[in-house]
Formats: sequence, structure tokens, C-alpha cells
Amino acid sequence: MVYLDHNASVPVPEQYLSELNRLTSIGFANPSSLHTAGRASRRLINDATESAAAFVDCDAEFIYWTSGASEANSWALHSAFETALYKGRKPRFLISAVEHESVALAAKYYQSKGAEIHIVPVGTDGVIDYDKLKALFETDSNWDLLSVMYANNESGVMQPIRDLVHLANKHSIPTHVDCVQALGKIPVSVKRLEATYTTFSGHKIGALKGVGFLAIHGKGRILWPLIHGKQQKSLRGGTENPVNVAFFGIIMDAIRKGELAIDYTEFSAMRNKFEEELVRLVPGAVIHGKAAKRLPNTTYVGFEGTDGDGVLVNLDLEGICASSGSACTSGSLDPSSVLLAMGCGKEMARSSVRFSSGRGTTWKDYEKVLEVLPDIVSRVRGLT
Ligand code: PLP
Repeated sequence: MVYLDHNASVPVPEQYLSELNRLTSIGFANPSSLHTAGRASRRLINDATESAAAFVDCDAEFIYWTSGASEANSWALHSAFETALYKGRKPRFLISAVEHESVALAAKYYQSKGAEIHIVPVGTDGVIDYDKLKALFETDSNWDLLSVMYANNESGVMQPIRDLVHLANKHSIPTHVDCVQALGKIPVSVKRLEATYTTFSGHKIGALKGVGFLAIHGKGRILWPLIHGKQQKSLRGGTENPVNVAFFGIIMDAIRKGELAIDYTEFSAMRNKFEEELVRLVPGAVIHGKAAKRLPNTTYVGFEGTDGDGVLVNLDLEGICASSGSACTSGSLDPSSVLLAMGCGKEMARSSVRFSSGRGTTWKDYEKVLEVLPDIVSRVRGLT
């Protein structure tokens, strides 16, 4: 199988599967129990918290474990919403036009609860215009949150995130940065980024699904519980999952120490060569976000006159796993909101396919795609 869908989820590295067995046998007890078994589970969580703190460069005391990044994203918005209400303000949020559904839909929810939501547009390259945001803040800096992702899951386009966060900080506007797609691909430092809320997910780097964390930093780092209970300083209720959390910690350590690191310079060269060949072999292929700084593993390409899902089904028949963009929207008939925000027409957006490489990908995988894709695109074009 050729697996080019690492932005949706990354396989567990085979050499770490035995770790899962080991952790399951020592982390079975409730980490809040005071007995020996409970303390063993608690130790697993504490160690993983240290691993996360080292990996994303933040203080361990400011890390909170969640069921994944969707929860962490909702939690960040919820906290900003409640903080504004507590201060007697009508919550006002700035949300980038290319956020993951977990942010975009949470924003819609808080809008239905009275928040004012403004969308920060992106250019055709998928990047927010720093100068426009600066101009906006000069006339209106009365915001309760700026939410911008580090790198986009569909296009791989990276935002000038440090500049954007520092700009917001200058105006004392709390910030939320979804770092899910950046983690493991580019260095992330919570301390240098200086965002109020940063969010992360385990399964995008080879840990299991169902675990993520929220890190808070700086002034205004206020959390309001979304899930109630006594765990995690009464801020996030629910028995923590020691095995899942600990395994995430082990994967973060392994990447940080170079045992599982990927040479992304090589990946970037391979991706660029793939895109050159793609455009040469498939007439009308358009690479989205090509003009911007992008993650080194992501190609998002539109094949005008086709239906992206038709292309994907045919790729799958050839043993190739790719995606039509966000894992959450694939299978739905809605065109990608990320591409629409980048000025793409609906037809082009519906024709787009994402290839995202990762650990274990070789040039041979890309070659296999190049071998079958021209024919698939012309067949699907004929049918569409
Ligand atoms: N944010 C981004 C950018 C993502 O790509 C994803 C994963 O699809 C998420 C958030 C949600 O993460 P999780 O699957 O851990 O809820």
C-alpha cells in the first residue's frame, strides 16, 4: 500500500508497538488512586507531561491533557468566551478563514451564544495579510481572541505565526494557535511563540488517536472547564488515559532525540520533484498554495474538470491512499472551505486531492502515483 495521507493520521511506528503492550500492563490503574498501582499510572502521565514540555518548549505545569486537538481547540475558544463574559464584555473573536472545522464550528457555536465572530481572510496563497491585520488592530483592538493555525492541514500553508501572535500581544489580544500539523514537522516552541493557547494532537505524529493537549502561556492564560470533574486541577474532568498519554510522550521523546526524526529537507526536495512531474504529466493540474511557505510533506492539487472523490476512489483501487483535503470533510459534497477562502472556484475545490507524506515514504511511492495518475485524471474527466 502507498500511504500518502499522513496529515489525516500517521501510522504507529512498528518498532514502538511493543511499548504499547508494556504501558498497558503498567498503566491499568486509575491515576488518581493513591495505591501503588495508581501511582504507577500517575508516574506515566507525569513523565509524558515532561516529555511534552520538552518537545514543545513550555513549562510542564501549563500542559493539560485532552481527548485530542478538537477538544483542546474547543476548550481554548470556550475559555476565551467565558473570560469575556466574566469581564462583562460581549465576546469578540477573530478567526482565520482557513481554520480546521474544530475551530470554525466551535466559533459558530459561540456565535449562536452571542459572540461576535469576524473572519480574517487569506490571500490566494492561503496566507493572512500581516499589514491588513496590523491596520485593523490600529483602528480596533477590542478583541477577546485571535485564532490562527500554524500550518494548514489541507494545503500545508504556514502562517507568519510568530509575527501574527506578537502583533496581537502588542495589543493585549489573547491568541490561540492550532499547532497540530506543525508538530513533528517543524520545531514548535510555545515560549517563543508566546500564544495564550496552543493545541496539539497525538495521532498526527504516530501516537494513538484520542489524545492531545492544550498548553497555556503568558498573561491572560485563563482556563474555564469544558468538562467538569476534579482531575487536572479541576479544569478538565475525566480519568486521564495513562497508556495513551504515556505513548504520546514516548513518541515525542523519540522524535526529539532523533530516533524517529524525519529528514524534512529531503522530504521537501522529494515533494517539489513530485509536483514538477505532476504538473508536467497531468494537463491542467494546479498546486494550491505553491507561492507560500508550506509544510515539506504536503501537496494539494486541483485537477480542473474532475471530481476529486472520483480520483481518490481510482487511486485507492491502485493501492494508493490520499485524501480530498480535511479528513473530516472527505466524503461530504461540500467543497473545501480552505480552498474557497483561497479564492478557488467550487469546481476547482471539488476536484482537489491532497498527498501528504511521512515516515517511511520514499520516492518510489510518489513514482507509483505519477505512473497511474495521468490516466486516472483523464478517465475521471471523461466521466465528469
Ligand atoms: N486541527 C488540525 C489542523 C487538524 O489537522 C486536526 C486533525 O484532523 C485537528 C485539529 C483535530 O485533531 P484531533 O483528531 O486530535 O481531534
